[in-house]
Formats: sequence, structure tokens, C-alpha cells
Amino acid sequence: MKYCSNCGTALTRKIPLGDNRPRHMCEACGSIHYQNPKIVAGCIAEWGNQVLLCRRAIEPRYGLWTLPAGFMENEETSLEAAIRETHEEANARVEVLGLFALFNLPHVNQVYMMFRSRMLDLDFSPGHESLEVELFDEPGVPWDRLAFPTILHTLRFYYQDRRSGVFRFHVGDIVKHGAEATFVQRRPAPDAATDDRPSASAGMER
Ligand SMILES: [Zn+2]
Repeated sequence: MKYCSNCGTALTRKIPLGDNRPRHMCEACGSIHYQNPKIVAGCIAEWGNQVLLCRRAIEPRYGLWTLPAGFMENEETSLEAAIRETHEEANARVEVLGLFALFNLPHVNQVYMMFRSRMLDLDFSPGHESLEVELFDEPGVPWDRLAFPTILHTLRFYYQDRRSGVFRFHVGDIVKHGAEATFVQRRPAPDAATDDRPSASAGMER
């Protein structure tokens, strides 16, 4: 960010009074331009024992496979965003069953929210951001051609839970050291909703 979106003056970067980190500040009009993480919402759209994947027609990771997901728009909910992205990328209609995974990606300032959902019919086709859209069972998933670590980990948890017969809510961080991305699982207590011991959620705090 170089210029003030309010008055057009060149911005400086410094810590505002009472704050604790540098911000883009405009010395002409006094605006402080805060930047915060973006939310990516998407669906694991299931049909029987199959899941809908899209092959990307856009960069980054052109030609690789992903779950339908994208940035939330203003004035919509995360759930609406997940349903909308599934429709835009795969022309598929889904009923959402619940929030399945939440991943933090601090190195790119993103938070992924993946919802488990059920396809309402088999009427799907590639949207303008997809080259192809296909249903895959677990062995058929193109595991070595997935676009992002978030997609890999979402699908791993999904099939793990599917085998165990219980779908849980998964929380994790993808932390990047140089070129290497490491996945760190943040495990809420299995029954975190009813367990209020102080240690139960300590692992999720920063
Ligand atoms: Zn300004």
C-alpha cells in the first residue's frame, strides 16, 4: 500500500500512538490503513463416498486439483461464501452439514474455513475458474497433484474421520519456514464444547 485511499497522499509506515505494530498511516488526513487476514471459505462436497474436486484454470497452481473455495465477499457469511464458491467453481448445489476444518496461514495472512456438505444432485460442471470438475473416492484422489497444503490436510482429515465413522472439527496452522510448509495440528479437547478445564483450549491460544 503506497497511497492513502482517502486523500491520495503517500503513506508512511509507523506505530500509531497506543498501538503495538507498524501501520500504513497518512500524515495528511490522519487515516490509519489497517491490514488484517482474509478468510477463504470452501466446501468438501460429498456424494456417497466421493468428493468433488476442481482442476484450477487460474494461477497460482494452474492445472492442480483443489476443493471449491475462495475469498469471502463483504456482506456475506462464511457459510454463504462456501456455498457460493462451490457454485461458481463447480456449478454444484450443496447443503452444508457443518464446519469441518479451520486452518491459519499466518505467512499469507489467511484463514481457511472448510465446510462439509452434501451435494443435492449430480448436475455439476466446470465454472470459469476450473478446467475440469470430478468426483473422486479416496484412492482416486490425485494426492500428488493437489494445489495447496490446506486441501491436502482437509482431505486427509476427511477420509480419516470417514473411516472412523465420526466427523470431528479440526484446527491447525500451516507455518512456513523458507520454502517448507509445516502443518501444526491444534487439537481442541475431543469434547471441548463441554470441557471447561483451563488447559482444554490452551493449545489454541497465541
Ligand atoms: Zn490521507
